[in-house]
Amino acid sequence: MSTAAVVGGGPAGLVAAELLARAGVTVTVFDRMPSVPRKFLLAGHGGLNITHSEDRDAFLRRYGRSADVLAPMLDRFGPADLRAWCDGLGEPTFVGTSGRVFPRSFRANPLVRAWLARLDELGVRIERRHRWTGWAQDGGLLFAEDGGAERTITSDAVVFALGGASWPQLGSDGEWVVPFAERDVTVAPLLPANVGLRVAWSEIFADRFAGTPLKNVALTVRGTGVPAARGDAMTTRTGIEGGPVYAIGAAIHDALARGRCVLEIDLRPDLSVDELTVRLRRRRPKDSVANWLRRSVGLDAVAVALLRETGSLPSEPEAMADLITSVPVQVDATMPIERAISTAGGIAWSEVDDTLMLRRIPGTFVAGEMLDWQAPTGGYLLQASFSTGVVAAQGALAWLDSAR
Ligand SMILES: Cc1cc2nc3c(=O)[nH]c(=O)nc-3n(C[C@H](O)[C@H](O)[C@H](O)COP(=O)(O)OP(=O)(O)OC[C@H]3O[C@@H](n4cnc5c(N)ncnc54)[C@H](O)[C@@H]3O)c2cc1C
Repeated sequence: MSTAAVVGGGPAGLVAAELLARAGVTVTVFDRMPSVPRKFLLAGHGGLNITHSEDRDAFLRRYGRSADVLAPMLDRFGPADLRAWCDGLGEPTFVGTSGRVFPRSFRANPLVRAWLARLDELGVRIERRHRWTGWAQDGGLLFAEDGGAERTITSDAVVFALGGASWPQLGSDGEWVVPFAERDVTVAPLLPANVGLRVAWSEIFADRFAGTPLKNVALTVRGTGVPAARGDAMTTRTGIEGGPVYAIGAAIHDALARGRCVLEIDLRPDLSVDELTVRLRRRRPKDSVANWLRRSVGLDAVAVALLRETGSLPSEPEAMADLITSVPVQVDATMPIERAISTAGGIAWSEVDDTLMLRRIPGTFVAGEMLDWQAPTGGYLLQASFSTGVVAAQGALAWLDSAR
């Protein structure tokens, strides 16, 4: 009987283990943590958003530069397959108002409980507290156990699914980059994705408005042409975060890498500059600026304070309308990767074939966030982790077949 080692017990690794075991392969999963899958379980705390219901083209666009390479994998195991898989584990899913898909319980625990029981029935062995540290001279996998003991494992096929480097306390710390780089595997630097931004607010703004949402705004990055992302952004003491910020994350990284990133925030994206100008002309003589902006165009206190962060405010309606539709906010940096929801960067696509086998290490496959793709929140992260896990497992099965 063939054997497979799956290194990393997150969703990508566990789904790969499930498929391999179903096909009759003897599978062992190794993970450095005392329990798995920790990040998946944590994702469930905020209401596990497992995938999204939008149409294929819109769905694929969320993966930006990696959309083309991921398309066949998302076609192989897409949102409908993932929902059917949840169903099979006794957790039917539903589509929320935003089109996001959640398990009925909203949580990950029931799904994980049923999943681990299924893996156990399939004979999948899970070796916890095993940190993979690299390869032995003979190509075997080196593990350090929690107690300090070292083990070398050999198997007929290997699937790596070690995740990115966000929330390292949950297991994925990105340390796998070193042994991979030593074997000349190109790895794009791991960067924080779906992460808050640092903005040097004035003390008054930070004191008064930290934790206040900027409701229904549209965000873009100046000079990039990236389509504006809409939603609620949250101001924090040291910056800004939330869905629309994450949605334009790739453009923010690019701008920061070029040396300057200025967000443009449209405070009233449903109104054009002309419509705003007409409304702003209706200023009463005794209105303060805040009253004028509230009465005429419905701006709340945090929106007015954000306008004030840019300097002295124009009194002409046209200039004010211009400012309201593109409030400039200078971004100093992203928050550190430890606080990011996900990771950009990872193993370069040029290093794997279309079965996700490493070109330099035949018989070894990679899946999940350790590959070089990024996507916003909305279920796209878990979906791609599952899809690549399935493709890697199918690749490993084909490899094992051909080696017989
Ligand atoms: C707070 C939070 C909320 C989230 N919410 C959502 C959401 O609602 N929807 C969504 O789509 N996505 C969400 N995500 C992202 C999603 O959880 C990840 O994209 C997904 O878990 C990645 O799966 P993976 O299997 O590639 O990696 P991981 O889940 O990170 O699993 C990697 C595994 O590898 C193990 N490992 C790492 N290094 C080693 C080593 N050297 N040796 C042995 N084992 C090792 C780790 O312990 C870990 O178990 C959220 C993330 C966070 C942090």
